[in-house]
Amino acid sequence: MKLDFCSLSSGSSGNCYYLGSESHGVLIDAGISATSIRKFLMKMDIPMQTIMGVLITHNHIDHIKGLELLTRKYNLPVFTTQRIWKNILTPHRKISPDSIREIPLKQRFHLAGFDIEAFPVCHDAPETIGFQISTQDKKITIATDLGHICQTAALYIKAANLLVIESNYDEQMLVSGRYPHFLKSRIKSDHGHLGNHQTSAFLADNISEDLNIICLAHLSKNNNTPEKVLQTLQQTFSERGIILNGQQRIFILNRDKPTNMISLIE
Ligand SMILES: [Zn+2]
Ligand SMILES: [Zn+2]
Repeated sequence: MKLDFCSLSSGSSGNCYYLGSESHGVLIDAGISATSIRKFLMKMDIPMQTIMGVLITHNHIDHIKGLELLTRKYNLPVFTTQRIWKNILTPHRKISPDSIREIPLKQRFHLAGFDIEAFPVCHDAPETIGFQISTQDKKITIATDLGHICQTAALYIKAANLLVIESNYDEQMLVSGRYPHFLKSRIKSDHGHLGNHQTSAFLADNISEDLNIICLAHLSKNNNTPEKVLQTLQQTFSERGIILNGQQRIFILNRDKPTNMISLIE
């Protein structure tokens, strides 16, 4: 079985990820336009009919911008919790009731040949979740908006073979940047976003031989650079004496353009 992942867009201007086998796939978040999603899938030779659903992490616009059209035009079912649904379904957003699939937290459901489980994370939306998507003996964990890594989230993150985790801001750039004080505090808080040092330290503490692919995601436009993310991770790993084995790869996900397809199983 083939298992491919790619990021169509990652960051505060839009988040959308694809995970698929040779026959089926799912999207995680739809924070870019439905047209961009369709065009990208076409370019990658992935027929829209093979997409079995969209998993939504929370109701912030950078995660749901393309959702309405995606459901109306392509009838895609959307999987998220009842509480997140309540906050997505505002009067001006015309999402067909047929698209709505409510999922419970921490309970497996089956979609597109995958076993999927949603887990809670701490973030400043009414509710935010991460996803663990499993197939055969591989686990993919996606946690892109979280202010700190609580015990529950840590369990799912530590079990991943492919991990998509936020590395939102460089601590120094945020502190010395132009954001107003309240916004800086919000971002740094336990319900905001993960900074480069936070993510790097967690990875250094918890990295296992089974973690093959690390994707650092949701980079801030104003308070981070891909170079800072990589530098912080490499420095943290080298201070702790962590050397990656030949199978382990690190990717920094682009803010506004798709990555190449990343294969977990070729
Ligand atoms: Zn976000
Ligand atoms: Zn958010």
